[in-house]
Amino acid sequence: MAPDIKDLVYSTPLFDDHDHLWSVRDLMQEEDDYRSIAGNSYADLLVATGPSFRKSPLLQDGGKEHRKAFFHAWRKSRNTGFCRAVEIACKDILGLDFTEENADAVSDRIRGLKERGGNRFYQDLLEKAGIEWVILDSINRPDQIQQGAYPDAVRYAYRDDFLLTALNRDTILQREEWWDRSIHKLSDLVDGLMQSMSGCLATQAVKAVKIGVAYNTGLHFENPTRHDAETAFNHMMSVRKNEKSPRPIERAFGRYTHPTISQLSGEELKPLHDYLTHAFVQRATEEGLPVQVHTGYLVGVNQDLRRMNPLDFVPMLLHYGSTKFDLFHAGWPHTEELAAMGKHYPNAWLSLCWAWAINPVSVGRALDSWLDSVPYTKIIAFGADTKHPITAYGYAVQAREGIARVCESRFARGDADESLSRQMIESIMFGNGRELYGIWA
Ligand SMILES: [Zn+2]
Repeated sequence: MAPDIKDLVYSTPLFDDHDHLWSVRDLMQEEDDYRSIAGNSYADLLVATGPSFRKSPLLQDGGKEHRKAFFHAWRKSRNTGFCRAVEIACKDILGLDFTEENADAVSDRIRGLKERGGNRFYQDLLEKAGIEWVILDSINRPDQIQQGAYPDAVRYAYRDDFLLTALNRDTILQREEWWDRSIHKLSDLVDGLMQSMSGCLATQAVKAVKIGVAYNTGLHFENPTRHDAETAFNHMMSVRKNEKSPRPIERAFGRYTHPTISQLSGEELKPLHDYLTHAFVQRATEEGLPVQVHTGYLVGVNQDLRRMNPLDFVPMLLHYGSTKFDLFHAGWPHTEELAAMGKHYPNAWLSLCWAWAINPVSVGRALDSWLDSVPYTKIIAFGADTKHPITAYGYAVQAREGIARVCESRFARGDADESLSRQMIESIMFGNGRELYGIWA
């Protein structure tokens, strides 16, 4: 008898290699309204609203006008993966359709579920989603890993993109405060970063480092000399506020989008940024930690989508041949480029985190294509990449639907026999993540 592939996919636990789940405390403090579970769909609502979104009540903080605009835009975009995941979660977890009429009832039911306590609420949802382990973004201070702040399933990724793409003295002054040390020269900065990493690693809960600078500077890194990095650092530290007229960062940097300003150009700072990133990756390599890399689509609206091509990262894969890199988000829409990288570089893993929600059909085709070209032990099929556990549940269901369709089709076509199908499903959903991140208990 043919195996029930769908059953198999739905009964296999998920390893979630990338998430931003709120701490239990933040979750309990969050206002329980329909917007709290909307996840990434907000961006689709802004796009549906069109260029006038800036004047739309959608950007207001709640209220009647906001609700009207929210569901008006929702009805125009509920076809997308982002929105469908929320509708699935709302129906399954709260027993309600995600509609304007039900907005108050949605809020009431979330509140009702939370009455059982934050930990229980979390545990129940992760269990229902079948998520067994989570690698949580972003930790860069040990006090962020407090006992009981997150469910037991959570481990952490060290990430500090604002340091790796530091724009001005203020960033450095803030790190002096965080790290309780003076930073006068580049070596002080690198030592501080290493000390900070050591502090977090001592918790034994950090299982990866993360580079998310595709949002700030892109994926292309050069290998600057220490002298060039020092020059850039000294220049940055010598410029004080108002010495040159501050310019909005978009103008000063072109493709940079820090919500701050700099008096130096992106080109002037690049040697510093690239030097710090190399130091960061080298430390991860020494510690045997995988390096997570944001590739592909950028969250929100009006980002510069030209800086997300995973192929830009190839020089780093070549330079750090013994480092394990987990390349995120299917590189979407560059899924075939990512397939080539997964096929070609022994140190590259391919992750579908967030990708099922971005474009379920395209990502289903990508998984099918990867399973035709890349060893299945190098593929991680899920990461929710959201904040609310109810939304994470929706993303998990969406991923299972997609994985099941692909695996059913491969079995039916004769591309995978029963034994291979079983192995692939267990590996891409769970085993590969567990092995790459070294989480056994
Ligand atoms: Zn993320």
